[in-house]
Amino acid sequence: MLDEQLDEFARELGANFYGVADLSSASDYIKNQGGNIVTGYPTAISIGIRLLDTVVDELPNRFEKSVAVAYKHHYDITNLRLDLITSRISSVLQMDGHKALPIPSSERYDDKRICAVFSHKLAAYLAGLGWIGKNCLLITPEAGPRVRWSTILTNAPINPTGKPMTDGCDDCTKCVDTCPVSAFTGEKFRKDDDREVRYDARKCERYFEIMEEADKIPVCGLCIYNCTVGNKLE
Ligand code: SF4
Ligand code: SF4
Repeated sequence: MLDEQLDEFARELGANFYGVADLSSASDYIKNQGGNIVTGYPTAISIGIRLLDTVVDELPNRFEKSVAVAYKHHYDITNLRLDLITSRISSVLQMDGHKALPIPSSERYDDKRICAVFSHKLAAYLAGLGWIGKNCLLITPEAGPRVRWSTILTNAPINPTGKPMTDGCDDCTKCVDTCPVSAFTGEKFRKDDDREVRYDARKCERYFEIMEEADKIPVCGLCIYNCTVGNKLE
Protein backbone atom coordinates (compact mmCIF):
# COMPACT_ATOMS: atom_id res chain seq x y z
CA MET A 1 0.00 0.00 0.00
CA LEU A 2 2.77 2.44 0.99
CA ASP A 3 4.54 1.49 -2.25
CA GLU A 4 1.62 2.64 -4.38
CA GLN A 5 1.05 5.79 -2.32
CA LEU A 6 4.66 6.90 -2.64
CA ASP A 7 4.81 6.19 -6.37
CA GLU A 8 1.57 8.14 -6.90
CA PHE A 9 2.69 11.02 -4.65
CA ALA A 10 6.05 11.32 -6.41
CA ARG A 11 4.37 11.49 -9.82
CA GLU A 12 1.86 14.06 -8.54
CA LEU A 13 4.85 16.17 -7.44
CA GLY A 14 6.32 15.99 -10.93
CA ALA A 15 8.52 12.88 -10.99
CA ASN A 16 8.70 11.08 -14.34
CA PHE A 17 10.59 8.08 -12.94
CA TYR A 18 10.06 6.35 -9.60
CA GLY A 19 11.85 3.26 -8.34
CA VAL A 20 12.85 1.49 -5.13
CA ALA A 21 16.26 -0.15 -4.71
CA ASP A 22 17.43 -2.83 -2.30
CA LEU A 23 20.83 -1.51 -1.16
CA SER A 24 22.05 -4.67 0.58
CA SER A 25 24.44 -5.63 -2.25
CA ALA A 26 26.08 -2.18 -2.22
CA SER A 27 26.44 -1.39 1.50
CA ASP A 28 30.29 -1.37 1.54
CA TYR A 29 30.45 0.77 -1.59
CA ILE A 30 27.96 3.26 -0.10
CA LYS A 31 29.86 3.54 3.19
CA ASN A 32 33.16 3.96 1.40
CA GLN A 33 31.77 6.78 -0.74
CA GLY A 34 29.71 8.81 1.74
CA GLY A 35 30.60 7.64 5.24
CA ASN A 36 28.31 7.25 8.24
CA ILE A 37 25.52 9.62 7.23
CA VAL A 38 24.49 7.44 4.28
CA THR A 39 25.24 4.09 5.94
CA GLY A 40 22.72 1.65 7.37
CA TYR A 41 19.73 2.35 5.15
CA PRO A 42 18.32 -0.82 3.58
CA THR A 43 16.42 0.95 0.82
CA ALA A 44 16.65 3.87 -1.59
CA ILE A 45 13.84 5.62 -3.41
CA SER A 46 15.01 6.84 -6.80
CA ILE A 47 13.30 9.82 -8.41
CA GLY A 48 13.93 11.01 -11.96
CA ILE A 49 12.84 14.00 -14.04
CA ARG A 50 13.23 13.79 -17.79
CA LEU A 51 15.16 16.67 -19.33
CA LEU A 52 13.46 18.62 -22.11
CA ASP A 53 14.53 17.52 -25.60
CA THR A 54 14.08 21.11 -26.80
CA VAL A 55 16.95 22.12 -24.52
CA VAL A 56 19.19 19.04 -24.81
CA ASP A 57 18.92 18.95 -28.61
CA GLU A 58 20.55 22.40 -28.75
CA LEU A 59 23.74 21.24 -26.98
CA PRO A 60 25.82 20.99 -30.17
CA ASN A 61 25.39 24.80 -30.26
CA ARG A 62 26.40 25.20 -26.59
CA PHE A 63 28.96 27.92 -27.35
CA GLU A 64 26.08 30.24 -28.28
CA LYS A 65 25.27 32.14 -25.11
CA SER A 66 21.48 31.72 -25.46
CA VAL A 67 21.88 27.93 -25.65
CA ALA A 68 24.26 27.80 -22.68
CA VAL A 69 21.92 29.98 -20.58
CA ALA A 70 18.89 27.84 -21.49
CA TYR A 71 20.67 24.58 -20.65
CA LYS A 72 22.16 25.80 -17.39
CA HIS A 73 18.82 27.19 -16.25
CA HIS A 74 17.01 23.99 -17.16
CA TYR A 75 19.65 21.90 -15.38
CA ASP A 76 19.50 24.03 -12.21
CA ILE A 77 15.71 24.22 -12.06
CA THR A 78 15.37 20.47 -12.62
CA ASN A 79 17.74 19.85 -9.71
CA LEU A 80 15.67 22.18 -7.53
CA ARG A 81 12.46 20.39 -8.50
CA LEU A 82 14.07 17.06 -7.58
CA ASP A 83 15.18 18.42 -4.22
CA LEU A 84 11.66 19.63 -3.47
CA ILE A 85 10.18 16.23 -4.35
CA THR A 86 12.66 14.27 -2.22
CA SER A 87 12.25 16.71 0.67
CA ARG A 88 8.47 16.41 0.65
CA ILE A 89 8.50 12.61 0.38
CA SER A 90 11.02 12.44 3.23
CA SER A 91 8.71 14.50 5.45
CA VAL A 92 5.81 12.17 4.67
CA LEU A 93 7.94 9.15 5.54
CA GLN A 94 9.03 10.72 8.82
CA MET A 95 5.42 11.55 9.75
CA ASP A 96 4.68 7.87 9.08
CA GLY A 97 7.36 6.84 11.61
CA HIS A 98 10.24 6.00 9.26
CA LYS A 99 13.74 7.34 8.78
CA ALA A 100 14.30 9.21 5.54
CA LEU A 101 17.34 11.09 4.27
CA PRO A 102 17.03 13.09 1.04
CA ILE A 103 20.32 13.25 -0.86
CA PRO A 104 20.96 16.60 -2.61
CA SER A 105 20.37 16.21 -6.32
CA SER A 106 23.62 17.87 -7.35
CA GLU A 107 26.11 18.62 -4.61
CA ARG A 108 29.83 17.79 -4.69
CA TYR A 109 31.00 16.05 -1.49
CA ASP A 110 34.52 14.91 -2.29
CA ASP A 111 36.73 17.16 -4.45
CA LYS A 112 39.50 14.59 -4.66
CA ARG A 113 37.30 11.79 -5.97
CA ILE A 114 34.93 14.26 -7.71
CA CYS A 115 31.80 12.63 -6.39
CA ALA A 116 28.65 13.24 -4.34
CA VAL A 117 27.90 11.75 -0.95
CA PHE A 118 25.79 9.06 -2.65
CA SER A 119 25.42 7.90 -6.23
CA HIS A 120 21.93 8.63 -7.61
CA LYS A 121 22.82 6.43 -10.57
CA LEU A 122 23.48 3.50 -8.27
CA ALA A 123 20.00 3.76 -6.72
CA ALA A 124 18.29 4.08 -10.11
CA TYR A 125 20.34 1.16 -11.46
CA LEU A 126 19.51 -1.12 -8.51
CA ALA A 127 15.83 -0.09 -8.78
CA GLY A 128 15.78 -1.46 -12.32
CA LEU A 129 15.25 1.88 -14.08
CA GLY A 130 18.15 1.54 -16.53
CA TRP A 131 21.74 0.41 -17.04
CA ILE A 132 25.07 2.23 -16.58
CA GLY A 133 26.30 3.20 -20.04
CA LYS A 134 29.80 3.67 -21.39
CA ASN A 135 29.31 7.38 -20.64
CA CYS A 136 28.96 6.45 -16.93
CA LEU A 137 25.38 7.77 -16.93
CA LEU A 138 22.19 5.89 -16.16
CA ILE A 139 20.63 4.93 -19.50
CA THR A 140 16.88 4.54 -19.39
CA PRO A 141 15.13 2.68 -22.22
CA GLU A 142 12.62 5.57 -22.40
CA ALA A 143 14.92 8.60 -22.57
CA GLY A 144 18.52 7.36 -22.54
CA PRO A 145 20.62 9.55 -20.23
CA ARG A 146 18.28 12.56 -20.59
CA VAL A 147 17.10 12.27 -16.99
CA ARG A 148 18.23 13.99 -13.77
CA TRP A 149 18.10 11.85 -10.64
CA SER A 150 17.74 12.21 -6.91
CA THR A 151 17.45 9.79 -4.02
CA ILE A 152 15.88 9.27 -0.60
CA LEU A 153 17.51 6.77 1.74
CA THR A 154 14.99 5.16 4.06
CA ASN A 155 14.10 2.27 6.33
CA ALA A 156 10.43 2.39 5.31
CA PRO A 157 8.97 -1.07 4.57
CA ILE A 158 8.73 -0.72 0.79
CA ASN A 159 9.54 -3.23 -1.92
CA PRO A 160 12.21 -3.08 -4.65
CA THR A 161 10.74 -2.22 -8.04
CA GLY A 162 13.21 -4.21 -10.10
CA LYS A 163 16.66 -5.66 -10.60
CA PRO A 164 19.65 -4.15 -12.44
CA MET A 165 18.92 -3.99 -16.14
CA THR A 166 21.04 -5.80 -18.73
CA ASP A 167 23.58 -3.53 -20.43
CA GLY A 168 22.17 -2.27 -23.71
CA CYS A 169 25.23 -0.41 -25.05
CA ASP A 170 26.42 -3.43 -27.09
CA ASP A 171 28.97 -2.28 -29.70
CA CYS A 172 27.93 1.39 -29.65
CA THR A 173 30.69 3.89 -28.84
CA LYS A 174 28.94 7.13 -29.80
CA CYS A 175 29.27 8.83 -26.41
CA VAL A 176 32.91 7.75 -26.14
CA ASP A 177 33.74 9.18 -29.57
CA THR A 178 31.86 12.43 -28.99
CA CYS A 179 33.60 13.60 -25.79
CA PRO A 180 35.86 16.56 -26.69
CA VAL A 181 38.43 15.59 -24.04
CA SER A 182 38.28 11.79 -24.41
CA ALA A 183 37.15 11.30 -20.83
CA PHE A 184 35.69 7.83 -21.49
CA THR A 185 37.73 4.69 -22.10
CA GLY A 186 34.95 2.76 -23.85
CA GLU A 187 34.91 0.04 -21.20
CA LYS A 188 31.52 -1.35 -20.29
CA PHE A 189 30.20 -1.04 -16.74
CA ARG A 190 31.22 -3.92 -14.47
CA LYS A 191 30.03 -3.57 -10.92
CA ASP A 192 33.38 -4.38 -9.27
CA ASP A 193 35.43 -1.96 -11.40
CA ASP A 194 36.41 1.48 -10.10
CA ARG A 195 34.88 4.37 -12.04
CA GLU A 196 38.37 5.27 -13.32
CA VAL A 197 38.33 2.13 -15.47
CA ARG A 198 35.63 3.82 -17.57
CA TYR A 199 35.85 7.54 -16.92
CA ASP A 200 38.43 10.18 -16.06
CA ALA A 201 36.32 12.79 -14.26
CA ARG A 202 39.32 15.12 -14.05
CA LYS A 203 39.41 15.54 -17.83
CA CYS A 204 35.77 16.62 -17.84
CA GLU A 205 36.30 18.93 -14.88
CA ARG A 206 39.34 20.55 -16.49
CA TYR A 207 37.34 21.14 -19.67
CA PHE A 208 34.75 23.05 -17.66
CA GLU A 209 37.46 25.05 -15.87
CA ILE A 210 38.95 26.06 -19.23
CA MET A 211 35.52 27.31 -20.37
CA GLU A 212 35.20 29.35 -17.16
CA GLU A 213 38.70 30.78 -17.55
CA ALA A 214 37.67 31.88 -21.05
CA ASP A 215 34.62 33.65 -19.55
CA LYS A 216 32.19 31.19 -21.17
CA ILE A 217 29.22 29.64 -19.42
CA PRO A 218 30.54 26.14 -18.72
CA VAL A 219 28.19 23.77 -20.52
CA CYS A 220 28.94 20.55 -22.39
CA GLY A 221 26.62 17.54 -22.04
CA LEU A 222 27.56 16.06 -25.42
CA CYS A 223 27.66 12.64 -23.77
CA ILE A 224 23.99 13.17 -22.92
CA TYR A 225 22.97 14.64 -26.26
CA ASN A 226 24.74 12.03 -28.36
CA CYS A 227 23.57 8.83 -26.67
CA THR A 228 21.85 6.77 -29.35
CA VAL A 229 19.15 5.68 -26.92
CA GLY A 230 17.82 9.13 -26.10
CA ASN A 231 18.61 11.02 -29.31
CA LYS A 232 15.62 11.04 -31.65
CA LEU A 233 17.28 13.38 -34.17
CA GLU A 234 19.90 11.02 -35.61
S1 SF4 B 1 30.22 16.59 -20.27
FE1 SF4 B 1 31.41 16.84 -22.18
S2 SF4 B 1 33.55 16.84 -21.50
FE2 SF4 B 1 32.36 16.00 -19.83
S3 SF4 B 1 32.39 13.77 -20.13
FE3 SF4 B 1 30.53 14.54 -21.15
S4 SF4 B 1 31.14 14.89 -23.29
FE4 SF4 B 1 33.03 14.73 -22.06
S1 SF4 C 1 25.93 6.35 -26.71
FE1 SF4 C 1 25.94 4.16 -27.01
S2 SF4 C 1 27.66 3.40 -25.74
FE2 SF4 C 1 27.16 5.47 -25.03
S3 SF4 C 1 25.74 5.15 -23.33
FE3 SF4 C 1 24.49 5.50 -25.19
S4 SF4 C 1 24.10 3.39 -25.96
FE4 SF4 C 1 25.80 3.24 -24.49
